[in-house]
Amino acid sequence: MRRYLVAGNWKMHKNLEEAKELASSISNLSSSFPNNTDVLICVPAPLIEACVNSCDNGVWVGAQNCHFKTEGAFTGEVSVSMLKSVGATHCIVGHSERRQIFGETDQNIAMKVAALITGGLTPIFCCGEQLPERQNGKHFEVVMQQLEIGLFGLSDDQFSKVIIAYEPVWAIGTGETATPEQAQEIHAFIRQEISKKFGEGIASQTQLLYGGSCKPDNAVELFACPDVDGGLIGGAALRSESFVQIIKAAG
Ligand code: PEP
Repeated sequence: MRRYLVAGNWKMHKNLEEAKELASSISNLSSSFPNNTDVLICVPAPLIEACVNSCDNGVWVGAQNCHFKTEGAFTGEVSVSMLKSVGATHCIVGHSERRQIFGETDQNIAMKVAALITGGLTPIFCCGEQLPERQNGKHFEVVMQQLEIGLFGLSDDQFSKVIIAYEPVWAIGTGETATPEQAQEIHAFIRQEISKKFGEGIASQTQLLYGGSCKPDNAVELFACPDVDGGLIGGAALRSESFVQIIKAAG
């Protein structure tokens, strides 16, 4: 039986004091989280350690990006082992903001996924189409290409350590959400393609999160879809009340 995961993506928000306050207010409510649901906050790298110290065992802390090399002359970059050493358990990779604003390609995302697995962190691999691609009926094709290059070169063992977040770019930060039918359709497609590549057993265990303007008022419907195993939450993860309401929607 797959567990739900509700993961917050804080993006470039919160300073040290604000981060400690938000992390501890989420963590203080961990006894109210549903038993079938894991909770993660993915915070800016300089805040990871403080958030780890502010959270009890009920909340994991992750990163939003990493470099694919173990170390070297890469000014401004952060390695997987650095993230691990400050207590991160997961790392988002291939978020559409990184693809669009920072020019990340499917190929370097694939290298980051491999580096994370080797370094012992769980990758949360983001995929999803842009609005014109959805309007032209190309969303399956676009997501398939992202999966093929980003993940389908992994071994069975490596792939079984990956979490996937389907995030239609047109729904991120826009207030527009995929309908539960749209989310279920593409999540079922992703699971079917995983099954073709890695087999039914691995496909049935893979956690598929939905991301894109997921809020307390739409989370119940989205999480009720059979192939949606939780969410990657941006804006609504910046307040403990809304984030915890979303967490409770999974139960
Ligand atoms: C995200 O950035 O991953 C995201 C889903 O953002 P939002 O919930 O604000 O659309």
